Amino acid sequence: MKTTSDNLKAVLGTLPKHVRLVAISKTQPVQRIMDLYRCGHISFGENKVQELVEKYQDLPKDIEWHMVGHLQSNKVKYIAPFISMIHSIDSLKLLKVINKEGGKHNRVINCLLQFHIAEEETKFGMDQQEATELLESDTFRAMKNVAICGVMGMATFTRDQDQIRKEFSHLHSLFVQLRETYFRGDTRFCEISMGMSDDYLLGIEQGSTLVRIGSALFGERT
Ligand SMILES: *Cc1c(COP(=O)(O)O)cnc(C)c1O
Repeated sequence: MKTTSDNLKAVLGTLPKHVRLVAISKTQPVQRIMDLYRCGHISFGENKVQELVEKYQDLPKDIEWHMVGHLQSNKVKYIAPFISMIHSIDSLKLLKVINKEGGKHNRVINCLLQFHIAEEETKFGMDQQEATELLESDTFRAMKNVAICGVMGMATFTRDQDQIRKEFSHLHSLFVQLRETYFRGDTRFCEISMGMSDDYLLGIEQGSTLVRIGSALFGERT
């Protein structure tokens, strides 16, 4: 049987140097996270605040935690002291709260703008116009305790590789447009978070810098 660390080595072996792996550990017990931590992997992602906070408390403090799921404003305060990056910014309201909570802890919190690139209605994220309004608002411009580091998106759940490729390519072009319009000279704006277990190679082909991989490391979730 393949162990979690075998899977880690296999996945890392497929990543170009400029692409980083966020191991999505949702529903996995802390022991399995420790299996990867002991191999030297320290970047993990969760999609629920409560589970994220519990794992943060139980695990080594040099782990870099990523929040990849939909985030409610009233829960930001629980993760603001330690979160390494929030991938799921989908409104100015949410960003305002993160900025405020970041200020309380004297931190600049790294954030990605989440775009809705899939066909499915169920997936979260903004469209280009919503992002433009956010970035052009005086409220955003005044923020000192958030850093917008790039974009994130999830492709449609489909076997159609061409469709996934098209959606990822769209996210990449949004990234380029935003960088040129709003982030010229800001080297922090450099991340494209796209690609999960079943589509991360397509994500990399389309310019991903961060892949979010769960089941290819830990096995299928039950
Ligand atoms: C669960 C999840 C992943 C990882 O999915 P896998 O198919 O298990 O690799 C990536 N991104 C987000 C936002 C998720 O919720």
